[in-house]
Amino acid sequence: MKVDADMGISTKAIHAGETPDSITGASAPNLVMSTTFVVDEPLSFSANNMKDDMPYLYTRWGNPTVRQLEAKLAALEGADACVAFASGMAASAALLLGTLSQGDNLVISDTNYAGTAEFVRETLPRMGITVSPVDTSDSANISTALTPATKLVWVETPSNPITRLADIRAAADIAHEAGARLAVDSTFATPIATRPLELGADFVVHSLTKYIGGHGDALGGAVLGEAGAMNALNIEAVIHYGGTLSPFNAWLIMRGAATLPLRMRAHQDNAIAMANFLEKHPRVERVLYPGLASHPQHELAARQMHNFSGMMALRVKDGAAVARRMMRELRVFHYAVSLGHHRSLIYWMATDDLLSSSFRLSGPQREAYERYAGDGVFRISVGLEDAADLCTDLDRVLS
Ligand SMILES: *Cc1c(COP(=O)(O)O)cnc(C)c1O
Repeated sequence: MKVDADMGISTKAIHAGETPDSITGASAPNLVMSTTFVVDEPLSFSANNMKDDMPYLYTRWGNPTVRQLEAKLAALEGADACVAFASGMAASAALLLGTLSQGDNLVISDTNYAGTAEFVRETLPRMGITVSPVDTSDSANISTALTPATKLVWVETPSNPITRLADIRAAADIAHEAGARLAVDSTFATPIATRPLELGADFVVHSLTKYIGGHGDALGGAVLGEAGAMNALNIEAVIHYGGTLSPFNAWLIMRGAATLPLRMRAHQDNAIAMANFLEKHPRVERVLYPGLASHPQHELAARQMHNFSGMMALRVKDGAAVARRMMRELRVFHYAVSLGHHRSLIYWMATDDLLSSSFRLSGPQREAYERYAGDGVFRISVGLEDAADLCTDLDRVLS
């Protein structure tokens, strides 16, 4: 069905990108696993000569099932175009390498997904790209860090693992005034909570492995933005770096995405119930959840997020010891990394470990992180089980 831009997000989540099969009438999307396609007209062998209306040639260039997912995601984000990747990291690396060249500078949140943090600190400098990690929860830090060489500003909001937010509209204005573009890793928010392109961002990045797929059974990633830029990214990154999304994963993620609006409401409801329970718990030192009035940026969260999502960070006394107990004693939660699944997940993130291996912060930036996280936080991805069972599960290991 061709969805209209003014249709609601639940209708888009279900129908965008999907049409009944024209031959069989199949209502659900076909899973096209073919890697190659029979051609009945002369086609160039070079991706550089690829045209929008070209028939399918080879799945690394484009695949009907992957295209359907891309169309659905573009409709959800209100984007011109979407390019899907084999993972969130494939999407992030593609956007960074595809937009930055030797001599350019990147300004980026100083706390974010560990893979992104390590990639920008290790790989980009080797390519002659300078990187300036700053605390982007204060937009003034972005202004201060910008140089004439800055081509890209990258914020993750809410950021992993401490749910620190960045003001997207302010960051976009600051970046554009300096001739740079803004990319937002919106994995924690999803298009249900925040649509960064509507707030002025140039690119949105998602790990589809998380909320959008939603069931913990398929890796995937996506970049969304203006059609010309996405076409260039498709040629350079999907076709030439080769981090192509498997059609099978696209099919699974599409099925997950159809219920994203419904799931995000339930994630938020459970997260609010848990955050309120934990905030009153005698063993709890701090709960960081954008939906709580006690969150340092609750006012920005209320303005920028239409849904507070299901991610929170929890500080307790003797966190490292509690973590060991959790591994043995949790019954409902899975003690595991990743997030955004229907199952609740929890994982201990020790500050020393993160700051020395991924974020490499010192001085005031380290102190700012420690003000949020102390010696460590539990990252909690609140799932879709009954909230009372989740609270009982944590209460038993905390008490
Ligand atoms: C998981 C995650 C990524 C990386 O995604 P993968 O699909 O695991 O490669 C990037 N950003 C954020 C915020 C994430 O949570």
